Amino acid sequence: MKIKAQVSMVMNLDKCIGCHTCSITCKNVWTNREGAEYMYFNNVETKPGVGYPKRWEDQKKWKGGWKLDKSGNLGLATGSKATRLAKLFFHPEQPELDDYYEPWTYDYETLIHAKRRNHQPIARPRSLITGERMEIQWGPNWEDDLASGESARRDVNLEAIGQKISLEFHDLFMKYLPRICNHCLNPACVAACPSGAIYKRDEDGVVLVSQDGCRGWRHCVPACPYKKVYFNWKTNKAEKCVFCFPRLEGGLPTVCADTCVGRMRYMGVLLYDMDKVLDAAQTKKAGEIYHRVLDLLADPSDPAVVGAAKKEGITDAWIRAAQDSPVYRLIKEWKLALPLHPEYRTLPMVWYVPPLSPIARRVEADVYLPDAEEMRIPVAYLAQLFTAGNTAEMALVLQRLLEMRCVMRAEMTGEELPAHLALPAEAYKKMYRLLGIAKYKERFNIPAGLQGVSQEKLREMQGGGNYTCPMGGC
Ligand code: SF4
Ligand code: SF4
Repeated sequence: MKIKAQVSMVMNLDKCIGCHTCSITCKNVWTNREGAEYMYFNNVETKPGVGYPKRWEDQKKWKGGWKLDKSGNLGLATGSKATRLAKLFFHPEQPELDDYYEPWTYDYETLIHAKRRNHQPIARPRSLITGERMEIQWGPNWEDDLASGESARRDVNLEAIGQKISLEFHDLFMKYLPRICNHCLNPACVAACPSGAIYKRDEDGVVLVSQDGCRGWRHCVPACPYKKVYFNWKTNKAEKCVFCFPRLEGGLPTVCADTCVGRMRYMGVLLYDMDKVLDAAQTKKAGEIYHRVLDLLADPSDPAVVGAAKKEGITDAWIRAAQDSPVYRLIKEWKLALPLHPEYRTLPMVWYVPPLSPIARRVEADVYLPDAEEMRIPVAYLAQLFTAGNTAEMALVLQRLLEMRCVMRAEMTGEELPAHLALPAEAYKKMYRLLGIAKYKERFNIPAGLQGVSQEKLREMQGGGNYTCPMGGC
């Protein structure tokens, strides 16, 4: 057993209101500069929809993530080392600017300084790349709130279930999906980099790109199946979400989590057994990867785990944080959170509590505990997103969420509790508190400082370490 620590995030999708505050605060902090205009380290997409970049989930096209060969061994989907070398100067799976969007601004000067005329002056859009006037045809949130029409029909997950859902107005459903880099346990971006410039920090699992080491080969961009590495056209370097590591080191959550209006994000520490990572990523059936990942997440209260963690130099503060981790509770204890597209085999460490559809109709019809299968968002669709198509697994999670609502309803109305509950009623009440009304300190538990690294060393690392902040400010 080799225990490591990972800072992880859980997003409760029922509480995302699609306000995009997370994207904007992130953009203002990290990508508000030349060469990074089109980048959204955090983006929020409407599902069903093609997302950002367009159809990022279409791995037949992008060849992102990992796949198993005939003997069951793990390899990058983009190809062997030799294949990747051959693609150094021509890489057909690179996304282009059109796949994201051409960023623009407006002629505000015209608007402000136009001479007095009969007609109102207008501010025309102008490309932030070429400086030329342009027609806006797509943007990072082009399909916001549009869960039907052409874009929704091209959703990769719908295609996978044979478009079995109705896109008629009265049957429509939609949900928001906020996305950041998943700081994966088995990151394909790290493995694909020919220069060794991308690395996963030993202390907290944050995946970073060394701006000094990056040679601009861009192999990380297609290799990431979530398309969360971007290429800065100005600096010729790769960039990605840094999990706001300077904030983490100060014991603060990321900017996107801190400013989330829906209070739907949770952050904390997980302990995991490094020796089990490869086996989990190599799980034969993709639908079983989720369980293998749960299995490698270690119980932080188990004395054997605590002993092994100390042996690896994990400090008492981090072990205590892991024992009181909101994300551990949601992921492992209550099994409410799921990884996005586990079939990509990168073992993502950003998890999602799936959304319950509006259940009002069912309640009005006097159905006390509606069946997960009857919910408005089809289980098969959610299963494509979070359980590699395993609908039984997805139905179990939804059922647990429904049971929580029933227990709380019984608490308020004095009705009898449902006969068959998977967990004791007290567990549902704790679940409700954390998911529904938890305060800041309950949602975030991040120990300040890196493990075994003094403040002095920390300052030295930030000043002259192998990560150089592209903004020069960290
Ligand atoms: S999600 Fe992040 S850590 Fe995972 S492969 Fe993509 S860039 Fe790398
Ligand atoms: S700030 Fe929170 S609620 Fe708003 S879009 Fe982002 S994740 Fe959703």
